[in-house]
Amino acid sequence: MNEILSVDDLVVEYNRDGTKVRAVAGVDLRLEKGEILGLVGESGCGKSTLGKAIVGILGAAEGEVIFDGLPVKKLTRGKRPEHFRNLQMVFQDPYGSLNPRRKIGAQVIDGLVIGGMHRSKALARAQELLATVGLPADALGRFPHQFSGGQRQRIAIARALAASASVLIADEPISALDTSSQAQVSNLLVNLVHELSVGMVFISHDLSIVRRISDRVAVMYLGKIVETGTVEQIWESPAHPYTKALIAAIPHADGRSSMPADLPGDVPNPMSPPSGCRFHPRCPLAMPECAVVEPEFVTLADNRQVACHLQKAGQEPVSLELIPRVPAS
Ligand code: ADP
Ligand code: MG
Repeated sequence: MNEILSVDDLVVEYNRDGTKVRAVAGVDLRLEKGEILGLVGESGCGKSTLGKAIVGILGAAEGEVIFDGLPVKKLTRGKRPEHFRNLQMVFQDPYGSLNPRRKIGAQVIDGLVIGGMHRSKALARAQELLATVGLPADALGRFPHQFSGGQRQRIAIARALAASASVLIADEPISALDTSSQAQVSNLLVNLVHELSVGMVFISHDLSIVRRISDRVAVMYLGKIVETGTVEQIWESPAHPYTKALIAAIPHADGRSSMPADLPGDVPNPMSPPSGCRFHPRCPLAMPECAVVEPEFVTLADNRQVACHLQKAGQEPVSLELIPRVPAS
């Protein structure tokens, strides 16, 4: 097996006015080398929190993340132990990972030197990396503000690669870019994943891009993964009613989307999650037990995983089209 990252029953909490809020409420994930795992779900469901906990920016309240055989610890003063240098995050805003006052060359070279390369070799490698991400060689002598948003994101990716990343957690890496840069940067990421056998978690609210580039997809709802499967499984035969609603949602230009009319209400507040299945108050197929018993995250016969009382471990997925819906009361 080529597993490079595993997330086991991970819980991440924030402290809000003295109350603990579980933004990630028990998540299991696996990632292989050379694989793109799309992570989708409505705004506020915990995607960014999960991403930050995977790379150690946030600490786990429970559970653990195993990267390349070792548990990830929370970073202290932003410092990353040697073993975890190749676990890197790419943010929506690349300014988050670039120093605005240092030239690009110095920043990429620093990444290489920290990664163990001798300074005498680092300049040539930095030029190579900039070429890899599609930037001209003279970019080395310029400052971050002298680039467009798309170019800056390329630089942030080059920096992550300078640390010879073997896993990239990319949190909405193209959401702030114009349409043509979106296509270019997403193609760049896909090529890097395949050529360098890097594993990538691609976090996005944009389902069409996730569908286009991912190998597998994880669907998150209110701090939990409700379904993971291949792109084909998720789009052709979703096994969780939330997955089905999400892929039927209508995207808007401002990045928000309207959920279908039969999915009432907003995402509930993680401060007081519903009992039983967290999705039951909005689920068109909810049964009485759904309000009481939390469904386990089980593996079906077709290898996908899902947390829904309609689906049984080891069995073929039940088609949601065939289940009579509960009339709205
Ligand atoms: P997403 O990336 O899916 O939009 P987030 O991980 O940003 O979701 O947020 C998940 C939940 O955690 C939301 O309810 C959000 O309000 C809350 N949250 C995020 N960051 C903080 C923080 N620094 N302090 C307290 N609550 C937070
Ligand atoms: Mg986010």
